[in-house]
Amino acid sequence: MKTKSSVLVVGAGAFGGWTALSLLRLGARVTLIDAWGPGSLRSSSGGESRIIRGTYGPSQPYTKMTARALQLWVEHEKRWQMQLLHRTGVLWLVTAEQDQFERGSLPCLREAGIAYQELSATELRRRWPQIHLEDVRWGIYEPDGGFLRAQLACQAVVKGFLGEGGEYQQAFVLADELESGVRNGVTVLGGSKLRADHYVFACGPWLGKLFPQTIGNRIRSTKQDVFFFGTPAGNESFAEQNLPVWADHGDRFLYGMPASDGRGFKIADDTRGPIFDPTSGERTVSAEGLKMIRDYVAFRFPGMKDAPLIETRVCQYENTPDNHFIIDRHPRAANAWLLGGGSGHGFKHGPALGEMLAELVMEGKDPDPLFRLARFGGTR
Ligand SMILES: Cc1cc2nc3c(=O)[nH]c(=O)nc-3n(C[C@H](O)[C@H](O)[C@H](O)COP(=O)(O)OP(=O)(O)OC[C@H]3O[C@@H](n4cnc5c(N)ncnc54)[C@H](O)[C@@H]3O)c2cc1C
Repeated sequence: MKTKSSVLVVGAGAFGGWTALSLLRLGARVTLIDAWGPGSLRSSSGGESRIIRGTYGPSQPYTKMTARALQLWVEHEKRWQMQLLHRTGVLWLVTAEQDQFERGSLPCLREAGIAYQELSATELRRRWPQIHLEDVRWGIYEPDGGFLRAQLACQAVVKGFLGEGGEYQQAFVLADELESGVRNGVTVLGGSKLRADHYVFACGPWLGKLFPQTIGNRIRSTKQDVFFFGTPAGNESFAEQNLPVWADHGDRFLYGMPASDGRGFKIADDTRGPIFDPTSGERTVSAEGLKMIRDYVAFRFPGMKDAPLIETRVCQYENTPDNHFIIDRHPRAANAWLLGGGSGHGFKHGPALGEMLAELVMEGKDPDPLFRLARFGGTR
């Protein structure tokens, strides 16, 4: 009888967890390890929620990837009998005259089969009177988008993975000699060595620490502050049944989510913050960021003016120079795959990426050049 290939996946965030599960389903013997557990608050997949949307600008692979991911999210909600996706819809507010991003998104949405409505400012005002739309020219509404439960989903994936026969360990992989010797296995804190036929490193913002020559500064972690404001008592205008996830894509890119599950109205700025260490960084928001967000909330959501700040979170984006993901083999070890560079938009794609990477690993195929390391000017 042919023995199964073994795969060691390091990192149980959105990328690694789904990859481990997909590998298992393709017949591999899979061990998944993580230093702090799936969706921990230090990881980029931690916290409450992440947006799922197909609007991504012109000529890119992510709208189609979203369409596949949406199918897989829904399929797994049924399989695991739990709600992971809150289908509030996603509303894009277009304020800038330069609207190539949104205009260019429409054919991609159509081609990918993602439902959308193109709405005039008048229609927007009629449907969402709680939003101040003075400067908004038009909008896109994606009724099938919304938000995903982030940490909960990472934990559900690992639970599903264990249920289907995967093995999980909480352990910290040491960077020692990984660059030159990954094909011989990985060493974990405490000294034991783990070996497999294939390796997948899905270490989010830590990928450059494990592979300082191959990745290094090609992934830069930036501090991203997230704010939750308390909604007015007895008023559901800002709750998920009345307000979609929204994205205000003008000079800055601000986005937010309606109040849900007893939590506040969430809002964050997509502008990249200062460099941040995911292991040792202190997770407190900046006073300037809070002021800017308060001014914005008072302008765009007048009913939330002077709302109390009830919670904050600090997460990090793991950015590549072009914001495209990294999916490639290690240049000196054909059996070691590097997966990461979510660049502030990776979470939603987890199930589709996992499926894609599992096929690449098990069938020995090459990834799309858009995701390969060679795009940065040649690998060493
Ligand atoms: C504030 C914020 C908002 C975002 N909004 C969205 C959004 O709306 N929609 C969207 O799609 N995406 C969004 N993203 C991006 C998305 O969350 C990330 O791109 C994605 O979660 C990255 O997942 P990952 O698995 O690559 O990394 P991670 O989740 O960081 O997982 C990496 C894992 O590797 C483990 N690890 C690292 N080093 C080691 C080691 N040496 N040994 C063992 N384990 C190790 C870590 O513990 C961690 O669990 C957002 C991100 C942030 C921070």
